Order: sequence, then structure tokens, then C-alpha cells
Amino acid sequence: MTQQEKTLLAHERLNEAYGIQPVRGRKDPMHELIGTILSHRTTHANEVTAYRTMRERFPTWEAVRDAPLPDLIDAIQTANYPEIKAPYIQNVLRVLIAERGTANIDFLRELSTEEAMQWLTNLPGIGPKTATLLLLFAFQKPVLPVDTHVHRVTQRIGAIGPKVSAAKAHDLLLSYLPADAPVLFNFHKHFYWHGQRVCTWYNPRCEACVLAPDCDYLQSGKTMLLTSTPSKKPKG
Ligand code: SF4
Repeated sequence: MTQQEKTLLAHERLNEAYGIQPVRGRKDPMHELIGTILSHRTTHANEVTAYRTMRERFPTWEAVRDAPLPDLIDAIQTANYPEIKAPYIQNVLRVLIAERGTANIDFLRELSTEEAMQWLTNLPGIGPKTATLLLLFAFQKPVLPVDTHVHRVTQRIGAIGPKVSAAKAHDLLLSYLPADAPVLFNFHKHFYWHGQRVCTWYNPRCEACVLAPDCDYLQSGKTMLLTSTPSKKPKG
């Protein structure tokens, strides 16, 4: 079976297992951008609390940008690594407001996917993962966020090679899948859930896995070496 066939077969199996989801993101793209930064390496509930507390204490984006750093760190403390995320958020706001005159990224909707990716990844600290999450969730652009779960599961089943980086995985998997936002949204969500619930880093539950019949990692006796180790610090 080719890697593309493996990718499409696994996609079908996870569609059946988890059900097709409508593309859903936060209504406000700025909320999606800053919420995505807050969401790294933390639970959804902690991210929501951090975002709400930050907006209550600093109601405008200019106020968030200009907040004393210790106060912003305190406001977002429920999200892990607040001391990394707070300067990261302020830097993004500084550049965005200086360049556009306002903290508004609705203009990205009108740009091509490539232009929007380029613009976002030029912001300080915004990497391909944050950029693709924002573009897919908020603007329904045909990109594929490859987080640690998507990376690990696609490596294990053999949809990509065991040494393929997350950045390269993005391009490879996109070339195997239709350039269609609902398809890519479901692919991302399903592999993310599968990595969280079944194909966990430690002790994957292969006996309960719908991908087991064609999984390279399982067939190797779980000895296959992968490069998708969990990162310790939040990254864009
Ligand atoms: S069979 Fe095991 S290693 Fe393979 S995808 Fe399923 S849980 Fe992961």
C-alpha cells in the first residue's frame, strides 16, 4: 500500500469511528489567534479561563499589549507556561498593531492561502502549527495543522516515514488529501482525538484501535523508532 493509500484509508476509518464534524472555530479571528497561543500544552478549560481573565483585566488588545508583563503573566496563569506565552502574545500584538494600525486580522480572509501563511509566519513566534490552526479554523483555508498527535499517529501507521518532520508532514499529507477545508478539518480533529485517546505516546491502546490492521508501528512489534517525541515547551 502506498503512503497516500494508507493516509486515505486511515482517514476513512477515523471518519467512521468519530463521525464527520462541521468546521468549527471561534467566531472572532483575533480570539482564535490569541486563544491558539494560549492553548499550547494546556487543557481547553484552562485556556478558556486564561483568555477570559485576560480580557476582563485588559479589555482592549492595546491594553493587553501595554500591560506590565507580570500582570499579564498573572492573568493567564491557568494556561501552562504563562511566562512564555505572555511576551509571545505582546510581541504579536505589537507587530500586528504597528503594521495594520489595529488588532484585526479579518483581511487574511481575502488573501490566498500561501499569502496568509506567509504573513502569519512572519509574526514573531508564530510557527506553522499556529498559522494552520488559525487559517483552517477561522477562515476555512485548506491547510492541515500537524500537532504532536497528528504527527505521531501518521508516523506510526506509516502514512509518513518515521523520521519525517512535522513541517514536512504538513506538505506530504496535504499532497495526499483533497484541498478541501472540511476534509482537512476532520482529518486534523480525528487524528488529534485518536492521539489523545487511543494512540497515546506511552502505552498506545492498539487492542482498541481501528487503525491496527495496517499499522506499521504495531507490525514492528512497537519497536519502530519515531522522531515525533513530545516537545517540552510550547511552540508556534
Ligand atoms: S495500532 Fe497502536 S500504534 Fe498503531 S495507530 Fe493504533 S494505537 Fe497507534
